[in-house]
Amino acid sequence: MQRLRLKIHIQGAVQGVGFRPYIWRLATQLNLTGWVRNTSIGVFIEAEGEDAALEKFLTLIPVEKPPMSRIYSLKHFYLDPLGYEDFQIDKSSKASEATAWMLPDIATCPDCLAELFDPQNQRYLYPFINCTHCGPRFSIIEALPYDRHNTSMKIFNMCPDCQAEYEAPTNRRFHAQPNACPVCGPNVELWDATGNVKHRDVVAIQQTVQFIREGFIIALKGLGGFHLIVDATSDDAVSRLRQKKAREEKPFAIMAPDLKSIDRYCEFSKQERGLLESPESPIVLLQKKNCVADLSSSIAPNNPMLGIMLPYTPLHHILLRLLESPIVATSGNLADETICIDNSEALSRLGDIADYFLVHNRPIVHHLDDSIVRIMADRPVILRRARGYAPLPVMLNHDVTPCVAVGGHLKNTIAVAKGRHVYISQHIGDLETENSITTLQHTLDDFTAIYKVDSQRVAHDAHPDYASTRYALSRDGEKHAIQHHIAHVYSCLADNELEPPALGVAWDGTGYGEDGTIWGGEFFLLDQQRVRRLAHVRTFPLVGGEQAIKQPFRSAIGLLYEMAPDAFQRYHDMPPFQQLAKAENRTLEKMLEKRINTVRTSSAGRLFDAVASLLDIQHINYYEGQAPMLLEFAAWKDMSGPKIYPCCIDFSPANAAMWSLNWQPMIESILLDIKNNVKASVIAAAFHNTLVHLVLTVAKHSGQKRIVLSGGTFQNKYLVEKTVATLSAAGFDVYRHQQVPPNDGGIALGQIAAINHL
Ligand code: ZN
Ligand code: ZN
Ligand code: FE
Repeated sequence: MQRLRLKIHIQGAVQGVGFRPYIWRLATQLNLTGWVRNTSIGVFIEAEGEDAALEKFLTLIPVEKPPMSRIYSLKHFYLDPLGYEDFQIDKSSKASEATAWMLPDIATCPDCLAELFDPQNQRYLYPFINCTHCGPRFSIIEALPYDRHNTSMKIFNMCPDCQAEYEAPTNRRFHAQPNACPVCGPNVELWDATGNVKHRDVVAIQQTVQFIREGFIIALKGLGGFHLIVDATSDDAVSRLRQKKAREEKPFAIMAPDLKSIDRYCEFSKQERGLLESPESPIVLLQKKNCVADLSSSIAPNNPMLGIMLPYTPLHHILLRLLESPIVATSGNLADETICIDNSEALSRLGDIADYFLVHNRPIVHHLDDSIVRIMADRPVILRRARGYAPLPVMLNHDVTPCVAVGGHLKNTIAVAKGRHVYISQHIGDLETENSITTLQHTLDDFTAIYKVDSQRVAHDAHPDYASTRYALSRDGEKHAIQHHIAHVYSCLADNELEPPALGVAWDGTGYGEDGTIWGGEFFLLDQQRVRRLAHVRTFPLVGGEQAIKQPFRSAIGLLYEMAPDAFQRYHDMPPFQQLAKAENRTLEKMLEKRINTVRTSSAGRLFDAVASLLDIQHINYYEGQAPMLLEFAAWKDMSGPKIYPCCIDFSPANAAMWSLNWQPMIESILLDIKNNVKASVIAAAFHNTLVHLVLTVAKHSGQKRIVLSGGTFQNKYLVEKTVATLSAAGFDVYRHQQVPPNDGGIALGQIAAINHL
């Protein structure tokens, strides 16, 4: 047996998750001496002892690590022993280069929850209870390393009791940076709409519960921003919120007191239950039960799904335990603006909506919306990446030259890259307002400063009019325009740590194409350092440009017109044409004829829009993707078995340069089915099946084995599950998004991956 000194360097999510106390306990158990230290480039450990014990130490570290920690790299080497006498936890030391990470916020842990509702505990009903296993992180971080003086908790001085917990290595609150208690920590206040304090502390929460019961709208300051809250069982309250927020049909998310309550409203699997109860605690999209008991029908009108979450902060836990009933909890903002994070800002921005404000004095540094997740093909797919997930980096499998990306236009996120890591921001939102554009700029400045990334290489969308593009072009440095759908497929490649070659399928709403058309139903061949557009959905005219995105009947009309120039006469009694007055019909026909304000598109999203309108399912998108989503829901209702429409791709040598997916035979069959009164659900399912078959056909001709699926259309569970099953059965390796959304929330990652490949 030999005595040795082992030096270890760990990088990953290892700060503020109870990692050092864990190492201390493990080392002490194994009779090792030495130290563990947090630095801004990760955790360093030196351990001395018998070689067998050190070997065991090394094996156990990743096995028994704290639940919220993630180890991305663990390097070690042996040295001669120095004769350490005991094992110590060193205070954080500053290092010149910041590569440690900002960690996501974590839902209240079971231990804290038990204390919160224990009348004997000094933190009984204290809404800011937390420990190293739970509580705020990213939302309060101002700089790295993650230490109290670098968080918004620095304005609160710990009382002797809290300080003692903070300093005791065996305590659950050892170096819990947001540690606080009623004596020394933040507190809540209930304000009226003019900012007058009505109540404080627990009474403020009790009164809020009363106001919710009476049907008032409450603006509640949570973890990463304000929620607007109403009683989810009150039709009046929910309708009033809808009307005040000017939100027509977009579903609201709800927060339910517990799983038992969720069980009354929704079906959920073991996997979905796991997600609901996870430390990330996202909104999970669940299937509504046939009878949703007492829930207001205006929460998710005409929608078989419900976005639902459990309480994730002590404040939410107290509120819902007292209320014993679900609430609507929607982001505290107006339409496309960023969620409100500041008390006085909330009064001015939400003053016209909310009746009362439940606020607190722990400043929010980074805004965070609730994340949204849906299980597809047995795996969680993140549809909105924010609280709980952001800003964990995605690891690339090679080093990159430092660069930044400004993302797309809708569901915007930004990213900065350095070494092998791409740090992706939380969901910023649609860049439709000054407010959200400013947030993009601040977030980019913030990330480049915190991660010390040289931003001389800037990637942006190829669309010249996106606010993100304009902002990128206004900055100094090298600019790289990346076509939207190329960014999508590279995003999925990076998300799976893959290298080309692969076939990239980008099915999406719309994106600026390289040939003057609007792209969105694209297949790319990805080679080392090269990308080639291999195939696309046959183009059709979109009349009215941007308007067509909001009005699916325009896509249907364009499709029919492309098939038959006399469509306006031949199909005049079809639902899409019924959406227009006679005069408008003539205008549209003229515009199509003369190609005025008419662009051609190969968008898969618009194809879904068109079919939804043809089937009289939805003619207006009140929110992004509504018509395609309703078409998906219709397909789920089909019980008739697999039906596929004819559809053709011309693979003859004359067309080798670019294959076009000709939807005409399919649309003709759909028209025939409509005429024959075939059920909409049967047609919707057959439409989906046909698209899956098209992907399979292109895949077979592409010569590639690996297929990556990306773009907003792959938020469609029916499409995803069928595509994955069909391609896998045919022997292909199918890759989908894992860490970032398939929608435009993943564009920033794709832009970074693309400029480092092309
Ligand atoms: Zn805890
Ligand atoms: Zn205290
Ligand atoms: Fe997109």
